[in-house]
Amino acid sequence: MGRTSKDKRDVYYRLAKENGWRARSAFKLLQLDEEFHLFQGVTRAVDLCAAPGSWSQVLSQKIGGQGSGHVVAVDLQAMAPLPGVLQIQGDITQLSTAKEIIQHFEGRPADLVVCDGAPDVTGLHDVDEYMQAQLLLAALNIATHVLKPGGCFVAKIFRGRDVTLIYSQLRVFFSSVLCAKPRSSRNSSIEAFAVCQGYDPPEGFLPDLTKPLLDHSYDFNQLDGPTRIIVPFVTCGDLSSYDSDRSYPLDLEGGSEYKYTPPTQPPISPPYQEACTLKKKGRLAKEIRPQDCPISTADTLSQ
Ligand code: SAM
Repeated sequence: MGRTSKDKRDVYYRLAKENGWRARSAFKLLQLDEEFHLFQGVTRAVDLCAAPGSWSQVLSQKIGGQGSGHVVAVDLQAMAPLPGVLQIQGDITQLSTAKEIIQHFEGRPADLVVCDGAPDVTGLHDVDEYMQAQLLLAALNIATHVLKPGGCFVAKIFRGRDVTLIYSQLRVFFSSVLCAKPRSSRNSSIEAFAVCQGYDPPEGFLPDLTKPLLDHSYDFNQLDGPTRIIVPFVTCGDLSSYDSDRSYPLDLEGGSEYKYTPPTQPPISPPYQEACTLKKKGRLAKEIRPQDCPISTADTLSQ
């Protein structure tokens, strides 16, 4: 496969490189902002699950945090530095990470918390959806500690079977909850974004990081009665923006002539790094196929 084939298949991947974004996800946040004006009046923002950093790039450019450190980015993985973005390498489900974020804001609340987090996909849909829900709730838990009243929370959500339970939990804390699908997010994916505006926790609510929001002992009085909450579904990015499910020719209509662009930020410590180093030294173990083995071993393997 040639190095331009992904550019052909995925126009947002290609545009991300050409525009200096570290990942195609940048367009999702930009299209969400087009619809919801997320950055209006925002001076402090938290980017949860931020690596490789395209949402942090968007945040630092849009809210004028360049150099003044008003964006805090958190991820399990190391992330190459970005101007104006304070980075924490940590797990958003851990109390210690939440404390670190709070420390960075020196007591001042954030206007916006975003989370594009995704657990490693197992391929078992129920497990993946459950893990995604847990990650979103961990993000919401942190948001309840740092968000100002009236603040906004945006998080990736999988529109799976139990999504209405998550909407119900979000509605406990926000006056408005919507489900949004940017045009740069593929139709074939169950991914969407919960856009929660107007942070307004229940009276007497005390944020408690030791208590996961999914904990059944948590008293969600607001869920008494009909608990099924149907939230509006909004698509963002009008028909003039590219369709992420289509392939486009390399010379885009109305665009300049195509020239291959390398990725903006190659992974700094990818999980496959060790394998690459071993391969370079010729020490990567090769797969043993039955036909490569002496007859007696092959017989054993095929049993
Ligand atoms: N928004 C990012 C961007 O624009 O570059 C892309 C985020 S990527 C889709 C998902 C990230 O979630 C991964 O970098 C992964 O390390 C992170 N992640 C998953 N689980 C996490 C956790 N428990 N704590 C922190 N980060 C986590």
